[in-house]
Amino acid sequence: MAVLSFNEYMKTTIVTIDGWSSCGKSTLARQLAARLGFVYIDSGAMYRAITLYFIRNHIDWTNEEAVENALPNINMRFEHNAVSGQSEIYLNDENVEYVIRDLVVAEKVSEVATIASVRKYAVRQQQKMGVRHNTVMDGRDIGTTVFPDAALKIFMTADILVRIERRFKELYAKNPNITIEEVAANLEMRDYIDSHREVSPLRMADDAVLLDNTSMTISEQLDFALKLVKERIPAETTGL
Ligand code: C5P
Repeated sequence: MAVLSFNEYMKTTIVTIDGWSSCGKSTLARQLAARLGFVYIDSGAMYRAITLYFIRNHIDWTNEEAVENALPNINMRFEHNAVSGQSEIYLNDENVEYVIRDLVVAEKVSEVATIASVRKYAVRQQQKMGVRHNTVMDGRDIGTTVFPDAALKIFMTADILVRIERRFKELYAKNPNITIEEVAANLEMRDYIDSHREVSPLRMADDAVLLDNTSMTISEQLDFALKLVKERIPAETTGL
């Protein structure tokens, strides 16, 4: 399969937001996309949806052939939900936006995301999505691998304890049986696997801007990003 060339995909303007788990990437990406009139793509949701498919269909993802056979059966798309005002992921026509957030999926997703064929499949789809619209995409390798020529790259981090607390609050609201130890163990495991895998590990692109939001509010981090957008992307593209 041919990889898209620079010219094929760079007719659109791309903002990438990469970083560690639970440091608020999707919150910032969603708000930024809404403000700029760009499409928001949550690349992590795609790895989560693939993992959900493997779990449900008992695919042995340690078996390369089983993975290669399964991938063509996985169709993913994002659709805007007028009620929530958010873009939601569909796996083979089923809305899985909420089920993919379960710890059952979170426990396995980083392992699945180390598989080269899975990454190749997801990256191609992400690049195709970026060809169609101006896009804000968040993930782990968007600035380094998916869109290395993006107009603006942000790399997010925050203190690990702050990240654990944020994710715990989010998951506890849906499942009061969850413990902070489980959440902490999952974040630490995903950070480790994501930054140590062979294929496109999590790392800050050389030309990315670091955003540490440990002591920032959500509106402060949005202002930080908007300032960068104004500096780097023409006003006629963003309306700023
Ligand atoms: O962003 P989110 O936490 O939903 O991502 C879930 C997992 O998907 C990450 O921990 C990582 O293993 C994987 N992922 C990835 N590359 C991306 C986005 C997510 O490997 N671009």
